[in-house]
Amino acid sequence: MNPVPARPEGTPAKRRRLSIAPGRLIVLSGPSGVGKDTVLQELFRIAPWLHYSISYTTRPPRPGEVDGVAYSFVDDARFQALRDHHELLEYAEVHGHWYGTGEARVRESLERGEDIVLKIDVQGAAWIRPRVPGAIFIFLLPPSPEELRRRLTERATESADGLELRWENARTELADQGWYDYRVVNDDVQRAAREILEIIERDRPRTDHQ
Ligand code: 5GP
Repeated sequence: MNPVPARPEGTPAKRRRLSIAPGRLIVLSGPSGVGKDTVLQELFRIAPWLHYSISYTTRPPRPGEVDGVAYSFVDDARFQALRDHHELLEYAEVHGHWYGTGEARVRESLERGEDIVLKIDVQGAAWIRPRVPGAIFIFLLPPSPEELRRRLTERATESADGLELRWENARTELADQGWYDYRVVNDDVQRAAREILEIIERDRPRTDHQ
């Protein structure tokens, strides 16, 4: 039984939109093991002006993960409080843990005219889509399902159970990516990062202060 209750239908989406802000929101999703972190690292190296939204998660830190860098690591009670106080732009349960985007940080960035990148799953992305018109949705794909399976197996951070769960979720995520604006294949980290940057630079549908 997960201690964080299910989201009441429609709650975050009914709140005010972020559409008047001048910055752009870039949402990157992709199945576990596809290489989102490595590609993002390269993206921020070649485009250091981009900002990153550090998510909250109830997942325990992996070896080497520092609080406040990859994630803000919180317990279930804190996550529930953030959610109940409407401090999350979106949130979702992924691989048995809760993940969520702090709304204030994103709002402040967008209001300052900064472009901010979110690395979130397809459920969270689907919640954001109606709330942030003009956001750019990019889905990172593996060169093949077999290659994804190989990368997931190589990743020694997960238990056998975690691996199977991530593989199942990866298949669901791959099936749910139809509505994304762009698909980028991670066949080469530098190439994929460059392609994402080109998309960001090309696709400048500013939110137009509607
Ligand atoms: P990991 O635990 O491997 O770092 O991330 C697992 C999954 O959680 C990834 O698919 C990642 O995109 C997703 N995720 C990370 N942060 C967030 C978030 O703030 N919101 C949502 N909805 N998903 C997130």
